[in-house]
Amino acid sequence: MRALIAGNWKMHGLAAFRSEVAALAAKMAASAPADCDVLICPPATLVAAFAKEFSGTAIQFGGQDCHADPSGAHTGDISAEMFADAGAGLVIVGHSERRADHNESDADVLSKTKAVLRAGLTPIICVGESEAERKAGKALDIVGGQLERSLPETSDDFVVAYEPVWAIGTGLTPTLADIAEMHAFIRSKTRSDVRILYGGSVKPGNAQDILAIDNVNGALVGGASLKAGDFYPIVMAAGGKQ
Ligand code: PEP
Repeated sequence: MRALIAGNWKMHGLAAFRSEVAALAAKMAASAPADCDVLICPPATLVAAFAKEFSGTAIQFGGQDCHADPSGAHTGDISAEMFADAGAGLVIVGHSERRADHNESDADVLSKTKAVLRAGLTPIICVGESEAERKAGKALDIVGGQLERSLPETSDDFVVAYEPVWAIGTGLTPTLADIAEMHAFIRSKTRSDVRILYGGSVKPGNAQDILAIDNVNGALVGGASLKAGDFYPIVMAAGGKQ
């Protein structure tokens, strides 16, 4: 299985950030793992320009969220078909910041997942427990329920990202044993060829240990994906993983 290292830029990035993508592309042209896909999900405003400028490189581009409908009277929203038209290959759905800021339910996440598949793209479906849920010993139950309610048909091509909410942007990470337990649990609920990413404070300093865990098939990276100098070592840490 090929690893996937995906960067989620969130609401960061102006046109000038192209220099970070160019720097990453140059580093990867010099040396990059052969068995790893690399994705950047910049703000929607940058997807088309980046996909065009960097089309000859090993970097793919994706969306951070989409509307469930292909088009319609939904001011400010972007459909999966629009991302496909802009040159995206994948779209993140169900990120915990979308669930929290926009009240997205698992049913919404499933609708968006189906929309991404309808557009011929690959969804990255995010799941993860809150700190209170982990402390209460409910992490597996919570993630199990999210998977049951938001995964598409088993024959579809999709990626799952396990992102404990309390680890996102905090510098905190679960223990390696906790990550291993959760990824084995998610694997038990999905096909053997579905990639399962870990996300939550992945950095150059912890990427190698996390990516070495069984059933961790890549990473979803927020803060450390914004600078080529941080993201590239994470990409390199995925080399030879599978
Ligand atoms: C994320 O945004 O999905 C994420 C994991 O962020 P960070 O790496 O900054 O914790």
